Amino acid sequence: QGNLRSYVRTLVHIYGNMLNSVGAAAKVFDYLDRKPQVSMEGDLQPENLKGHVQFQGLTFTYPTRPNRPALQGLSLDLKPGQITALVGPSGGGKSTCVSLLERFYEPQEGEILLDGQPLHQYQHKYLHRKVAMVGQEPVLFSGSIRENIAYGLLDCPLEKVQEAARQANAHGFISQLEHGYDTDVGERGSMLSGGQKQRIAIARALIREPQVLILDEVTSCLDAESEGMVQQALASCPSQTLLVIAHRLKTVEKADQIVVIDKGVVLEQGTHEELMSKKGSYYRLKERLFTEEAEGQADENEHPIQ
Ligand code: ATP
Repeated sequence: QGNLRSYVRTLVHIYGNMLNSVGAAAKVFDYLDRKPQVSMEGDLQPENLKGHVQFQGLTFTYPTRPNRPALQGLSLDLKPGQITALVGPSGGGKSTCVSLLERFYEPQEGEILLDGQPLHQYQHKYLHRKVAMVGQEPVLFSGSIRENIAYGLLDCPLEKVQEAARQANAHGFISQLEHGYDTDVGERGSMLSGGQKQRIAIARALIREPQVLILDEVTSCLDAESEGMVQQALASCPSQTLLVIAHRLKTVEKADQIVVIDKGVVLEQGTHEELMSKKGSYYRLKERLFTEEAEGQADENEHPIQ
């Protein structure tokens, strides 16, 4: 009965959103329906997944742009417990990497391996659980913070919600709110800042204990404090493979591996120190940003590296 009540409440919230705003509802359903567009599916669902992801010679061309490959023989190794940051100019291929990892598309050449097995050999549902994505504009629905974090998990105890919020560095600000975890986030989370919304979305992803977490870093509306908190949350994520699409270079310095992607190929990769001393494309991106800052063309919240 408790389960049913919780389920109905979730439905009521979604329905409420629908009445409030068709756009918001569409987004919620997009989120719910987020599933791979490719048909091939296997039945692998191992109990102990390490989350080792290998992109092997991926070549991919969008059907709508047949003459311009978005990825051209791209290879990457994402190790469990490590943070990998993808950086590079706009249109370089960062989001396409994520779309292929989420199996929205199938590469024309090459393949992605998860713990040594091709992605298509895994069951869709299983992959969806194990590979979580937190987008730039996290989808929150009007309801409490607790409901937003526990979203879809029936009868999830508050302790579990709090634990996920702690990992996502959200517990501090939530506890300071008058109604704590029962605070209503407002329509589409309008009561919260961009950084707070993203931390709630990270908590929502972490509570499901995914092995691979993909984060498309927010580019705007992120105050300095929230930004630091999101970084800390990432740094302390327990034993997961983390892939961050970084739009600002200063957020990637602590990554175990920084990969610079342009025109669908990997230009260079290494740690911040390694790439800085190499004085290659990463160094130049950094330098450009530094010059822009010196000239006062960009403020704290607007540092897209593109
Ligand atoms: P940004 O930092 O601006 O998000 P990105 O590095 O993520 O850029 P992608 O979005 O992966 O780059 O784009 C790689 C190439 O594929 C670009 O030439 C882009 O125009 C093209 N592209 C991206 N998405 C699509 C799509 N849905 N259909 C057709 N072409 C696309």
